[in-house]
Amino acid sequence: MIKSPPTILPLFAALAFFISLIQAFGQSPPINHIPELSCRIDRISPQERSLAISCAATLTAGRFQLRFADEFAGVDRLSERVYGLKIRDDKGAALLPEIRGGGLYYFNAPGQRQITINYEMRLARAMAPDQYALVSSLGAEAGFLMLGDLLPRLCPDQADDEAANRTRLQITAPQLWRIATTEKASGEFFEVSDPQRAVFFLGRLREKTATVGTMSLRMAVAGDWAFSDEEVFKFAEAAAREQAGMIGGAAGNSLIMLAPFPQPLTGLRSSAITLGRTAVLMLNPNNDAAATFAHYRRHVAHEMFHFYLPNAFRIRENFDWFWEGFTRYIALITLLRLRLIGQREYLDAIGAEYEAYWFNPLRNQVSLIEVSPEKFANAANYDLVYRKGMLVAALYDLELRWQSRGKRNLTDVMRALYQGYAARGREIGNREVLDEMRRSGDFSRPISDLIRDDIESLREINLNERVKRYGLVAEWSATGRGGMKLKAAAKLSERQRMLLSGY
Ligand SMILES: [Zn+2]
Repeated sequence: MIKSPPTILPLFAALAFFISLIQAFGQSPPINHIPELSCRIDRISPQERSLAISCAATLTAGRFQLRFADEFAGVDRLSERVYGLKIRDDKGAALLPEIRGGGLYYFNAPGQRQITINYEMRLARAMAPDQYALVSSLGAEAGFLMLGDLLPRLCPDQADDEAANRTRLQITAPQLWRIATTEKASGEFFEVSDPQRAVFFLGRLREKTATVGTMSLRMAVAGDWAFSDEEVFKFAEAAAREQAGMIGGAAGNSLIMLAPFPQPLTGLRSSAITLGRTAVLMLNPNNDAAATFAHYRRHVAHEMFHFYLPNAFRIRENFDWFWEGFTRYIALITLLRLRLIGQREYLDAIGAEYEAYWFNPLRNQVSLIEVSPEKFANAANYDLVYRKGMLVAALYDLELRWQSRGKRNLTDVMRALYQGYAARGREIGNREVLDEMRRSGDFSRPISDLIRDDIESLREINLNERVKRYGLVAEWSATGRGGMKLKAAAKLSERQRMLLSGY
């Protein structure tokens, strides 16, 4: 047996003591720390569209704040879905909370004992169609459980720590339903480090996992569709590969989910959200299967690009004009590069954005930079961010490709931003995005200064004037509802022909 030299032994012992001290702190957090929660979601009723939640935590003595999300992405009064909240100590005695409204409660914990929080969530409230995917929902065929609005945040009253409650979660799914998530499973539990980003998809799911470079792409589908699951899986895999190529990176472990809306709606529509690397998409079909699938493809390609922009970045401020408007354009480019749409659909889509921009009452009132943080204030703001945002992305891409004779395009700028900021963990905001955009070419001529006029201020965009030299013609149609039509000119120069066929 080899004896350790005596000089090393005390140091080793001290180190071991230090490590065990850290572990002890890990097990019972000191005062003012954010407690860990152990939660269970059960009695999930697709008919009643309700579920029961029970959370336990061991708390130090003192006053605690319990806060349910009340507003998310423009959806308000979320805390009104909480029913029958009861807080009890380990002997079953009720701890009566002080109710502040808006989902905010205070209570006194007796100290070093376990308390339990029980309540029911009723998710049947009707919403605007495009809002359904933004918050937790439950329907006959599937449910999306987003812990950010289902679980409360529990912290000491005076805590200035904004850390999340690490949560150990158990979900009892309805019979024959399965669970898909990117959260870490250990045995019967999920270990959730950040409940704000955690999403669980429940239903009679069909699933497939594909490996795309270093990325593991999980796809899950619920509901009956006029297109096959295989078509959904095949498209998602192709889009993931295309976008990873564009950005020169990979999104890691990702999950894409497709489900019907929790209640039937009219017309072809969809609602989606991407949290971290999980994209949730609800689709309501019309009776044209091809149009429904085309709508799905464009929307899911948009959501998938959010794995990178903005979700892979450290964001300093809101620049939605870029991460929504430009992502909308990248979704279109993804379809174009995969040859799922042609030049006609590409130009039609840009024409439609111009039309939306033209009829937006705020187009001469507020710039893209200014409107972005106010996206949810009203429909016109929201529309301007997405539609003018995409129009400007298209104009920028066309100009960059024109100047470089097809050698550079918008995806090069995206890649530079991803490599320079996301991959290196550097913070990003409007300034960094605009600097990178400026660096790639000369955007101060010939007709306008694209970045200054279209993004930083609000000079009116004359589409025909802007696209003429690319060999495009923009015309208001005199018939029907008078839409904007963008098309290739009858005669094209060689450079124009190269530009328009060079995607
Ligand atoms: Zn988006």
